This record gives sequence, structure tokens and C-alpha cells, in this order.
Amino acid sequence: MRFSDVIGLAPVKEHLQNALRRDNISHAYLFEGEAGTGKKMLARTFAQSIQCTGKAQGESEPCGTCRACIQVQNGTHPDVKEITSERLTVIGVEDVRKQVVEDAFLMPYAGTRKVYVIPEAHKLSFAAQNALLKTLEEPPEYVVILLLTENAAAFLPTVLSRVVMLPFQPVADDLIRRYLMEEQKVTDYAAALAVSFARGNVGRALQLVKSDVFPTRLKRVIALFSEIDALRIHQVNERLEGVLEVPEEALLPPGEGKETAEEKRRREKKLQRAALFETLEIISALLRDLLVYKATADPKLLIFTGEMSYISKACEALSYEDLGRLFKELEALRQQLHANVNALIALQMFLLQIQERIQYS
Ligand SMILES: [Zn+2]
Repeated sequence: MRFSDVIGLAPVKEHLQNALRRDNISHAYLFEGEAGTGKKMLARTFAQSIQCTGKAQGESEPCGTCRACIQVQNGTHPDVKEITSERLTVIGVEDVRKQVVEDAFLMPYAGTRKVYVIPEAHKLSFAAQNALLKTLEEPPEYVVILLLTENAAAFLPTVLSRVVMLPFQPVADDLIRRYLMEEQKVTDYAAALAVSFARGNVGRALQLVKSDVFPTRLKRVIALFSEIDALRIHQVNERLEGVLEVPEEALLPPGEGKETAEEKRRREKKLQRAALFETLEIISALLRDLLVYKATADPKLLIFTGEMSYISKACEALSYEDLGRLFKELEALRQQLHANVNALIALQMFLLQIQERIQYS
């Protein structure tokens, strides 16, 4: 991986590449960005360039072919360490002590620097952060620590004051679209759809085009909406369960860490909530398309250009007033979901409102 292969993130790349060019690398960095924004990828690229023995002085891109580069790519470089934890939700004080604090006293094995990568560093307990603080305060000169996190607010101020903070900003839609079409060979419709739901998050865009969870959910929403006038309440509810379904494989625990029953429950709840909000986003985009199409009759302006037959049918059945009401109901639904009311009931009520307003004939 080269810096130039990473899409977007120009300020972060520039900062790291300048540090490499001037050989002015700090002892600790904090990469902050939501899941899927490329923190791990940039951490690996940075680590690779730090260890690379094939690049010229003043160069920031790793050569990609020297032994060190290959080892970093394979995760086998002796001086690039990724911190692991026995537990899924916490990185404890013992993990940090053994894998960073004590290990940092040992000189680099092959290169001139040692790089420690701590993924999901917001899971560091306060005790673990305090343990890490010793190394952050008086780091051996060869040590570089990369903290990757979704949330910088999870850190002690004493830790934050000793790291270089690099926020990962959303990537421009156009860059993601081009990347999906040119590098991932995705069709323009799938790329446009993924971009409208990814909100500048490349990882999320990739997930949207690579897994069939999203297309399946979208198909089920469209099917539910296009037949809603003919369904009985219990059928609406059954369909809704199908829409919100989280596939078995998505429920499997990530990685190999152990998790308690409570942690498992919380993780599954989080996935169900994500499914719920994805459904809400789909409905919201669909209503937006209905309004746009009703006003312009221009398919080019739509998000769901693949669903034209439903959209034109629904536009005939719904007046502007109906659509206005549905937008209001949707806003109320969104607030209820954020306020943590019973989501299933709130969604059922919303669908009944649609049912009342729609008659496709
Ligand atoms: Zn190299």
C-alpha cells in the first residue's frame, strides 16, 4: 500500500508524509475517525514507510518491494507490533504493560524504529492508559505509537496532551464513486447508491457494494412499500421483521477475543440498531426520491434509479400533501428512534400511516 493509493484524507497523508520526508517522526499519533475511514490502512502504510529500507532519503512512499516492506504487508515485521487483547471490549493494563511498556525497552530488532499500533484504542481502560502514559512521557527514541480510535473523548487529557491528533475527515463523494467504478469495477448505479449511503466513509461504501445485506434490505423495503395497501397488519409486521433482519454471519463475534454474555448482548443490540437506522435511511431516501420524481419526472435526479417502476407507481398514488405528511411522520419516527422508544412499534405505526394514505389501485 502506498499513500497515493489511499483515497481522500489529504491533510492526514500530507502530515505523515512530511514527517517521513524530514525524518521528523513524533513518538505518538492519534488517528481519530469512525470505523471504515481507513485508519488501519494508513497506520500500516506509515509503519511500512518507516521500516522501508528500499526508499531514497527524503522519500515518503514505501518502495513496496524490499524485505521490510513485504514483512510489514504480511504482518510479520519484528518491529511493527499490533496490540491484541484477550477481551473483545477492553484493552487492559496487562495487555499494555506486556505488549508496549516492557517491550519498548528492547531495542529494534531489524530497523531503526519500533512501531506499536493500537487498533480500537478507545477500548483502553483508564488504568491501561495510565500504564501507557509512562512510555508516552519518556519514550525511548526509537518508539512510535499509533493509537487508532473512533472517539478521542475516551482518552485521559494527559494522554491526549502527548500525542499528535490527526482527524480523519469524510472523503468527497466523487472520489469514492470513481474509486468504486474504476478500481472495484462496480456498476455506476451500485456506485451511486453506495455513495449516497456512505456519507464519505470509504469502508462503508465498500461494505455496501460487497455484501448483499444492503441490497436485500432495500429490495425488501421496496417490496413492502409497493404492496402495503394490500397487506394485513400481521403481514406488515412479518415483512418488517424481514427488513430488519441481521444475517447470522453478521452476528458472529469479530476476531478471536473472548466476550462475556453481556458483551455479546450489547454487540448484537448494536447490530440490530444499525439495521434499524439503515432501514430508516432507505425509507428516507425513498421518500426523497418520490418527492423529486413527482416534482421533476426526471429519473436522472433519483438515488434509486433501479426502482423506477415502483417510484412512478407510488408518485401517481401519492399527492404532494400525502408526501408532506409522510415526511413529517418520518421526522417524528427518527426522533422516537433516537430517544430509544420501542423501535419496532414506532416503525409499525409509521407503516400504518403510509398504509392509510396509499392506494395504488
Ligand atoms: Zn521498502
